[in-house]
Amino acid sequence: MRPKLLIATTSAGKLHEYRILLRGVPFDLVSPVDVVIKTVVVETGKSFEENARIKAQTLAQESQLLTLADDSGLEVDALGGEPGVMSARYAGENASDADRVNYLLSKLRSVPQEKRTAHFRCVIAIARPSGMIDICSGESTGFIATEPRGKNGFGYDPIFFFHQLGKTMAELPIEIKNRVSHRGQAAKKARRILFRIAREAVK
Ligand code: IMP
Repeated sequence: MRPKLLIATTSAGKLHEYRILLRGVPFDLVSPVDVVIKTVVVETGKSFEENARIKAQTLAQESQLLTLADDSGLEVDALGGEPGVMSARYAGENASDADRVNYLLSKLRSVPQEKRTAHFRCVIAIARPSGMIDICSGESTGFIATEPRGKNGFGYDPIFFFHQLGKTMAELPIEIKNRVSHRGQAAKKARRILFRIAREAVK
């Protein structure tokens, strides 16, 4: 039986992406629900890296499994990097993806097209129960559209527009999103780390 890799997320969207992004790694991917872990880690960190570290180390301790956690979000230049680490809570605790999208659009109402640059960032932490941790990250740059377009993906995808592709992230099939997204870039590096960890385990 292959060793387990806990993907420390409660987001169905992220879990779905990781199952595709990490295809072929020598681990069986499991979610907190699969291993009956109910701990909710409060994201108190001031950076994506800090939050990813806290999530991965807490759940690796709790589950005694190799654990991958990511913290990700959107930084809009015209808003001084907001929503950043607040991306998931930008429009309040119980808001929906649509509420967050509408709130962000309302904040950018008077901002012209050329000043609507934004960056999706993703930091991945891979923690072992021993406390050892590896970190990697990815970024993708685009523009905030003036209205939502597309049905794929999650979160801010319908308003994150790629000029090169002429489409929002939510208009891209998952295979293309994974090639260009912040999470896709970070996961490429995470795959290399996971293969190294698997090799070290058999030495
Ligand atoms: P967290 O990483 O679980 O704290 O959540 C980050 C938040 O950033 C999500 O709830 C989304 O709103 C947003 N976000 C992160 N990655 C993506 C993505 O790939 N597409 C769209 N929104 C994202």
